[in-house]
Amino acid sequence: MSDFDEPRVFLAGAGPGDPGLMTLRTAEVLARADLVLYDQLVPKRLLDFARPGAVKLCVRDLPGHHPDKYPHIYDRMLEAAREGKVVVRLKGGDPLIFGRGGEEAQTLRDAGIAYEIIPGVTAALAAAAYLDVPLTHRAHTSAVAFITGHELPQKTNNKLDWEALAKFPGTLVVYMGIARLPILVAELLKHGRDPETPTLIVERASLGEMRSVTTRLADLEAVRRAAGLEAPGLIVIGEAVRHRPPSSWFEQRPLFGRRVLVTRPKHQSETMVRQLEVLGAVPSVLPAIEIREPADWAPVDGALDRLAEFDWLIFTSANGVQGFMQRLLSRGDLRQLGRIKIAAVGPKTAAALRGLHLNPDVVPKETHSSEGLVELLGPAVAGKRVLLARANRGKETLPIELAKVCSVESVAVYEQHDALDTESEAFAALRRGEIEFITLSSSNIARSLLRSFDETLRGRVMRGDVRLIAISGETAAAIREFDLPVDAVATVASGDGLIRAVIDRAKAEPKGTD
Ligand code: SAH
Repeated sequence: MSDFDEPRVFLAGAGPGDPGLMTLRTAEVLARADLVLYDQLVPKRLLDFARPGAVKLCVRDLPGHHPDKYPHIYDRMLEAAREGKVVVRLKGGDPLIFGRGGEEAQTLRDAGIAYEIIPGVTAALAAAAYLDVPLTHRAHTSAVAFITGHELPQKTNNKLDWEALAKFPGTLVVYMGIARLPILVAELLKHGRDPETPTLIVERASLGEMRSVTTRLADLEAVRRAAGLEAPGLIVIGEAVRHRPPSSWFEQRPLFGRRVLVTRPKHQSETMVRQLEVLGAVPSVLPAIEIREPADWAPVDGALDRLAEFDWLIFTSANGVQGFMQRLLSRGDLRQLGRIKIAAVGPKTAAALRGLHLNPDVVPKETHSSEGLVELLGPAVAGKRVLLARANRGKETLPIELAKVCSVESVAVYEQHDALDTESEAFAALRRGEIEFITLSSSNIARSLLRSFDETLRGRVMRGDVRLIAISGETAAAIREFDLPVDAVATVASGDGLIRAVIDRAKAEPKGTD
């Protein structure tokens, strides 16, 4: 990129929270960032899009005294820019809507540093869309005003013209207004706004945690307090709110507001997390295992040296494909595979192979399991020499069954280790009883997680406050080893199957019925 003298400082909008609402441009620059300076309001989840080696710094944690850390933010930003780093100053929503983006741009201009501003979906637009409230309406609302509640009267510095706002012929959207809501309502009423004006408050708009209340202007503070909605939140005032349906398209999503724990290794959880978000869920990631390179490559290298002696190469996971092929490619190219036949245990493994331009000769269609593979492969591999590329602690079924009909050599092309971070935020959420469903996508994952359960957590599972969802019968059996109940088993042993099982359970027991 440096060939084109692109700016290296980006004042980027992160959108309101849902990663799907971050612009492609922000995702692009995050993927190249050396330093991400993010606002406290930016959900941590969005930092997943930053380049893995990037330094991620919340501006709240910079030195200096609250409330004004801006000099420190500027210093840090300018210093990194001068060192030639790619700096992303990540701000919630849009950087130029109550985000001080203008001041930061001015600082950069003064310092002679080139920058780019990337707009974002501002909170008002997210609230409107995710609550099904049209901010404008042909029949009665021809204007929208974005207002900051932060400027509300502390007697002297009242910068807002309440008379004008009370008469404003359209929708008022108030940012940062929750703390001073009573004053805001009083001022509008005093200046003649109809107490019957429909209003709403929403917090965490665009996320599964989104909560909101709708009422008339005069009752807004009382209704807010009763519902326990706190700052930060957005206030919407005007006829537009009348169009709000009893529940929006987003609130009708099958997992809206349901808290689901994903226990896969971090680098393999993204697809599931994204699917859960789109379904309206509140996903947390607590990896129970991690994938590492083998401590010793010698057995794999030995097998690669003798690859021509094997008739079949069998993969039992996408990780196995990655591990084996990376090693193979580090020593040459795909031609080393020669005429060897390839089998994959299921569609994900097959997809990993296809990603490397290899079409597996055999993939079981129905059952994605070792048993299915043995059944299917039996006749083909009879009397042949088979190389099995698997994990350090792979299941024994496959090698044992295969050994009955052919000569089989197993090599560990990756290692799985228990890796539960009991200090993590996700584990804390589990302890606090905030998780409703735990998805367990392998028996090793189940064992690693459940081993860490104390009496409190076991009690939660026994009472059904936390539900264990297993990807397969085998994983369910691993759960039962701990004398814990299995709430559901996926019909199809895959990430999609696991999510389907959660949806079915959520539907059977809607939130708030217990
Ligand atoms: N630049 C941001 C606003 C920053 S001011 C934007 O364009 O959205 C911070 C205020 O924005 C909060 O106090 C709250 O009023 C509002 N806000 C931001 N994200 C929100 C969300 N997801 N739901 C509701 N309000 C939100």
